[in-house]
Amino acid sequence: MIVSRDYKAGYTIMYKKFSIAMSILAGLSFNSALKAAEHGDVVSNMAEAVRYSTISYQDRQKINYKEFDGFLQFLRSTYPLVFSELRIEVVSDYSLIITWQGKDAGLNPILFDAHYDVVPVEVGTEHEWSYPAFDGTVADGYLWGRGSIDDKASVIAYLESVEALLKEKYQPDRTLVFSIAHDEEVGGENGAANIAKQFEDRGINFEYMVAEGGLVIEGHPLVESDFMALIALAEKTFVTVTLRVSGKGGHSSTPVKDNAIARLAEAVNRLHNNPLEPQLVSPVTDMLEVIGEQVGGFKGFMMKNQWLSEPLLIAEMTQDEATNALVRSTTAVTMFNAGIKANVIPQKAEAKVNFRLLPGYTPEQLVKDVKGIIDDAKVEVDYESWKPSPEVADMNGEGYARLKSVISEVLPEVTVVPGMMTATTDSPHYANLTKNIYRFHPYTLHADDVDKVHGTDERISIKSLKDAVTLSKALIKSAARP
Ligand SMILES: [Zn+2]
Repeated sequence: MIVSRDYKAGYTIMYKKFSIAMSILAGLSFNSALKAAEHGDVVSNMAEAVRYSTISYQDRQKINYKEFDGFLQFLRSTYPLVFSELRIEVVSDYSLIITWQGKDAGLNPILFDAHYDVVPVEVGTEHEWSYPAFDGTVADGYLWGRGSIDDKASVIAYLESVEALLKEKYQPDRTLVFSIAHDEEVGGENGAANIAKQFEDRGINFEYMVAEGGLVIEGHPLVESDFMALIALAEKTFVTVTLRVSGKGGHSSTPVKDNAIARLAEAVNRLHNNPLEPQLVSPVTDMLEVIGEQVGGFKGFMMKNQWLSEPLLIAEMTQDEATNALVRSTTAVTMFNAGIKANVIPQKAEAKVNFRLLPGYTPEQLVKDVKGIIDDAKVEVDYESWKPSPEVADMNGEGYARLKSVISEVLPEVTVVPGMMTATTDSPHYANLTKNIYRFHPYTLHADDVDKVHGTDERISIKSLKDAVTLSKALIKSAARP
């Protein structure tokens, strides 16, 4: 492991020297822009989109809004029909609501949601990228860069599609609304929250919403050989539990028995070593059923007959980190703060543990269970829950049927499967506006590339990017029908 890391670092340094030389000769951004242009408009537009470092920081003081202005200006000049023919509203300075009025005002509108802010590149890992994170380089059949998947690919795919449809003089029967948010990565308190408020004030009820979360995945641990289009019907609830311990502090030369760090460490250890009970709940039960139908054989029989095979399925799914998160409310110890000086025993220690709850499991019940596991009355337990998750969407609903038939038409090799999102998105902000939030964005990703999305070497294949436009155009037309 260490050898290959060193090798990679060496390689990157060599690459860097080479690319600096190249940039002196030709100008790096000109070079990559040229390469991107060879692949057609969507690729060069997407490459340009990546070049705006629209980074969301938890500390909002650090956000460079010039990049956000630049990005919005780029959208305006790249999609002139969208911005001249449709109704554009700017929310909280940097988010957009784009409304395409349908011919039949009696039909409930449909909402497509995406975001263009991105997460930062972790300080110290910049050199590990094969190509710089904000250069928008096209190479090896991929477009590389932060945001190339999450979530600029959807923003660009939607706008490319709408621009093309407007050029064709297409007119929707049903009103279509696109929300392009700017702070999803830090909770959406300015973007999605205010967009949703506008809709609520106008009394809008969406027939369904297409949101971030699902995608077409290749090589998923449940069906390795196939492509699966996951339409996430639900997402887990985000809860952070704070543990606090007060102890008898003092000088480290005369140690006390009641040490706050030691007591807290024990509580944290108990939580880490005693994960919450795994269980199969909807929509994971539906997911297994549909996959079971697809894979057939003994494995398929087991997936379809959960009354019989539940313990075995759970035993297998808890072995893999990705599938474990589907059958369990997960526990992750994320922060531990105590002590001010090496020779001072602190009087207080605090830790944070982040839980992601399965549908149906409440934060109140979680806190009871956490107290039970810790089993120490001297550890104070507090919690903070992010917005409650929207209800589980209906897989027998009209929206699901439309998504499914469009995906099967455009990508016939793909199996459409209902799923559950294990991370959180902007969707909870929209919970009161529709009963059915279908989390699906139109790109394909290999399972091996999933970790790259918030990590190093985020990338989208050129094929996936082009398919994303075809697919979103079809999704939009299907949504626009009465
Ligand atoms: Zn995202």
